[in-house]
Amino acid sequence: MLHHFDEGDLVSVLTTQPLDRMLDYKAPEGGCFQGAFVEVPLGPRKVIGVVWDKGEGGYDLAKVRSVIRVLDAVPMREEMARFLTKAAEYTLTPMSAMLRLATRSPGLGDPPSMRVIYRRGTVDAPDRWTSAREKVVAVLDDFGGLAFTLKELAEMAGVSTSVVKGLVAQGVVAEEQSPRDLPYPRLDPERSRVALTDEQSGAARTLSDGVESRRYGTTLLKGVTGSGKTEVYLEAVATCLRAGRQALVLLPEIALTAEFLTRVEDRFGARPAEWHSGVTMTERRRAWKMVAEGGAELVVGARSALFLPYRDLGLIVVDEEHDTSYKQEDGVLYNARDMAVLRASLNDAQVVLASATPSLESWANVEAGKYARVELTSRFGEAVMPEMRAIDMRAESLPSNRWISETLARAVRVRVEADEQALLFLNRRGYAPVTICRACGHQIGCDQCDARMVEHRFQRRLMCHQCGETKPIPAACPSCEAEDRLAPVGPGVERLAEEVAGLFPDARVAILSSDLFGSARALKAQIEEIAGGGADIIIGTQIVAKGHNFPHLTLVGVIDADLGLQGSDLRAAERTFQLMRQVAGRAGRAEKPGLALMQTYQPEHPVIRAILSGEEEAFWRAEAAERKAAGVPPYGRMAGIVLSSPDVQEVFDVGKALAARTEPLHRIGAQVFGPAAAPIARIRGRHRVRLLVKAEKSAPLQQALSAWIGQLKYPTNLRLSVDIDPQSFL
Ligand SMILES: [Zn+2]
Ligand SMILES: [Zn+2]
Repeated sequence: MLHHFDEGDLVSVLTTQPLDRMLDYKAPEGGCFQGAFVEVPLGPRKVIGVVWDKGEGGYDLAKVRSVIRVLDAVPMREEMARFLTKAAEYTLTPMSAMLRLATRSPGLGDPPSMRVIYRRGTVDAPDRWTSAREKVVAVLDDFGGLAFTLKELAEMAGVSTSVVKGLVAQGVVAEEQSPRDLPYPRLDPERSRVALTDEQSGAARTLSDGVESRRYGTTLLKGVTGSGKTEVYLEAVATCLRAGRQALVLLPEIALTAEFLTRVEDRFGARPAEWHSGVTMTERRRAWKMVAEGGAELVVGARSALFLPYRDLGLIVVDEEHDTSYKQEDGVLYNARDMAVLRASLNDAQVVLASATPSLESWANVEAGKYARVELTSRFGEAVMPEMRAIDMRAESLPSNRWISETLARAVRVRVEADEQALLFLNRRGYAPVTICRACGHQIGCDQCDARMVEHRFQRRLMCHQCGETKPIPAACPSCEAEDRLAPVGPGVERLAEEVAGLFPDARVAILSSDLFGSARALKAQIEEIAGGGADIIIGTQIVAKGHNFPHLTLVGVIDADLGLQGSDLRAAERTFQLMRQVAGRAGRAEKPGLALMQTYQPEHPVIRAILSGEEEAFWRAEAAERKAAGVPPYGRMAGIVLSSPDVQEVFDVGKALAARTEPLHRIGAQVFGPAAAPIARIRGRHRVRLLVKAEKSAPLQQALSAWIGQLKYPTNLRLSVDIDPQSFL
């Protein structure tokens, strides 16, 4: 039970302002509950905060100011407060920043707003029927009991608003005030459309048992692409709804949401709440409020949906749990997969991690007995996993500036002639990754970052993929001023499209690359058109690997399977393995068998061989053994510290000062590497220096890091960010 404070009681308030402590206030007139969202004075301003606890006291009470007012929002529950506290401790994030994540509701401080709605009135018939009036009444009768706004009702009936107003005057239609934020329609867990296979039913039963236990547990739901993972976990969602608890499904990509919402509607008869950056402010406010009040049973969203104020969250599904976009790389650095597990453990809830190619972290947690594992081995219906083969590029003798081998081109031709689709995968946006001057060798770089500019020919610009800065493609070399000597080097998807157009002049070609679409809606429309057969050849970046269904697709050609293996990232092998299998899994999802061809210069590389053989467990065991030997995640702990400043000397000085004071880290047996210039040494004009801390799995890393970092006072224009379990090493 949340404590109630009486008027004048001293309360401590957590605000969203970047202060390193709570502030004391007096409870307002009428008192307030612990957890209440409030408006408080801070200097000359009014800011939003949460009543966290009783006040500290110990100073002149006469000077303590009062809470201005309590906001119209359900008070923060204890579970949420514990979650924010633990998440802050884990990620070494100030509580004020955690509270900002938890209060991302537009208009949180607004008074409850009302709107006028129209429903069937008490009078049966007007004095005189017209066809327009009949239409309005027919709409209201058809949707018995539902209410509409004036505009909605007029549009649905196909009449002018004055017709509705005329019926209001006669009492046939009633005009009422209603809260603007309405509950979401109820989802019907009993309304099932798909028949599950025995294997799927068994898996669904296991997940549902977990939900019914009302205890914490995490299950890895592993299933090859097309095995029906979604159908299975939606059954667990149904069980959760029957139990009267809320469910959350996290998706890695906004573009996937539309397709997913349709599946939810098919299964449950209505649409759930949506939460991501593409949702309107009005809908966001409604979702936040209804999640708190219990008027939203299911939320589908991006990682930030984890910080919504659920009334009683019983199940969190993390779909495509291996996806790197679950790691927030800006602001508060957190991994949504790990935070889902944390939040569930604090609320006796279940987590389902779904993937065809799980992360090594989750695989290791299963091996260690921390997570359960449920597997789906057969593909839905007739479809089978595609055959995978390597094309040895050393034997292909391609002319320069060509990337599609004769072998791959032949395979594409066969598919196109059979009216099937082929996908060419290249994980590089733009036209060419490098633009070089043939006269002096100068490579065009970004002025703000230590990165090369990438040519985007469709937009006729050069673009920096680090900061997004663009500039026109110059006619002369910026270094030696030679004219017409700048040349693109290497392929991007746009350049590949040129080659495809030359090889297959009659084929319809579509490019799927995130930068070519202004909005998630435009991308979704393009994906739907392609899925419906609107293209013969699809050229795509990583975006195509993320769960879209292309039923006519029977061939996948990977242009450069070696691309991901070059990085120094400890997860390079894992990521290549996952990505290649995800991409290959796009082929042959309906009745037609699929084929995946991978162009590689190193067909005997262990990762390439593991991909081709499909011996996943062997790959995971080998990869796990290497990480264990190196003491790196998931068998050891790591933290990345990035210092950045416009002043290059300052940033190195601070880095060295930190490296000279590592006593708190040595006490827990941790090692410190660096400072070193980060691989991207300058972004947006700020110089970057990295330190890396490595510790044993059981070491209390966060406490030691706080003690270590806390020893110094930092210059004001220096930024320090701590990344626990870093995914990116740039
Ligand atoms: Zn030049
Ligand atoms: Zn840049």
